[in-house]
Amino acid sequence: MRLTKKVFLDLAIYMSSFGLLIGIVFPFFMLVMGIPGAYVMTVPFFLSCIVAGVVVGTINILLAKTVVGKRIGLLANKMQFIVGKLNDAKSLSDLEDCDSQECQIPVDSTDELGESAQAYNTLLQALSNSIASEAAVRSFNSLLSSQLELEILAKNAVERILHYLDADAGAVIIERGGEFEVIYSYGVKNPAEIVANENLWKLFESSATQRTVFDGKLTIDCTLLSFRPDEVLTLPIVYKNVPIGLLLVASRIKLADRALQTLEMFNQSFSFALNNAITYDQLQKLAANDPLTGLYNRRFGMTRLTEEFSRSVRTHLPLGLLIFDIDHFKKVNDTYGHTMGDKVLVNLSKITAMAARKGDLTIRYGGEEFIVILPGADKKDCAYIAERLRHMVEESIIQMGDIQIRVTISIGVAAYPEYNVESEHALIKAADKALYMAKDQGRNMVVFA
Ligand code: GH3
Ligand code: MG
Ligand code: MG
Repeated sequence: MRLTKKVFLDLAIYMSSFGLLIGIVFPFFMLVMGIPGAYVMTVPFFLSCIVAGVVVGTINILLAKTVVGKRIGLLANKMQFIVGKLNDAKSLSDLEDCDSQECQIPVDSTDELGESAQAYNTLLQALSNSIASEAAVRSFNSLLSSQLELEILAKNAVERILHYLDADAGAVIIERGGEFEVIYSYGVKNPAEIVANENLWKLFESSATQRTVFDGKLTIDCTLLSFRPDEVLTLPIVYKNVPIGLLLVASRIKLADRALQTLEMFNQSFSFALNNAITYDQLQKLAANDPLTGLYNRRFGMTRLTEEFSRSVRTHLPLGLLIFDIDHFKKVNDTYGHTMGDKVLVNLSKITAMAARKGDLTIRYGGEEFIVILPGADKKDCAYIAERLRHMVEESIIQMGDIQIRVTISIGVAAYPEYNVESEHALIKAADKALYMAKDQGRNMVVFA
């Protein structure tokens, strides 16, 4: 029964009263035990017993205060300390070091006090974890929020996620027009093999995080990776209930459950940012690219040529230009139809990308006329690339149903400054003239200006 608002004061009142009671009762107890009344039924003996009872009560309360009160006080102080820290914390990561002795309470008993200390420590750990996750998600969000470029966004996200999870490899894969595309990958031996993995569609369509711990049995082809991971995670990237891609994370060691929860939160913000970047990328492509082949369109391509020509004049580095046209293309359309003709054009754009080097630009200049800009390429480099391209086209088979056809191309080449001109227009004109010479001389050949 509570007497005051203070537990130890209540205890003190109870213990002193109990001491007083014992002091009063004790002389009668002595009498019962056979001690003569002349000794015990005196005022001094009564007073001594009462004082002794009260002193024992007081010592008890002091002991309780020291043994129990001190521990409870410690718990209260630690809690107060954490509250202060939380109030002062400018950044939530200020609480990250709370595993240390500074915040935790030693658990040195198995009773209720020990249990309270343990419960407090666990609660603190949970708080600290949740604060650390929140801080990580916040920082991840701010990393993504300003980025619209698809590749940079994917690179930033993968790098941060791998760093946070201490994982070894990762990739961002998106689905576009029924095909998977690896936008960025880190630590993956051959990214092209990821999209070739037959499980990928299943994982993509399942819209659920798949956690695969490999105990010798592999469900994802680990030849993808230069090491054998203990864990491969695939997280579908879903925007407004529609899967738009997959995030792949591989780790040499099994990942912590808590880190995975944070990863799920990362993924939510990432899906939003990724969707924006995909939309932005499509708009950019619409403005710059030919819809059939995906190559630069004439308008954008000419702007790029102007830039490259000025750069070449400024830096005195050579600039090569190839212009090519499909031989007897009308016949392809007339014989097999426009769909086959379009297929030939798409195939040609792919071959050109393979024949060209990194940094070269391919433009769909007209219906079946293409330009390749080769920054830094002199006449010899141009000859090599043009011949390689001509040969690859000649060798390539285009298939539509049962029909298989081959086409050839004629190429005109102008290499600046070995072929010296004043402007990029003059360079195109020279290459175009060479192209028509190639047509005149029998087609399927390379001619220089
Ligand atoms: P040459 O060897 O002299 O180049 O003969 P050619 O038949 O290829 O003649 P030309 O270059 O004049 O042919 C252009 C043809 O390209 C005409 C047109 O039907 C076709 N063409 C242009 N754009 C497209 C397109 O987007 N799709 C398809 N299927 N055909 C196209
Ligand atoms: Mg033509
Ligand atoms: Mg033609």
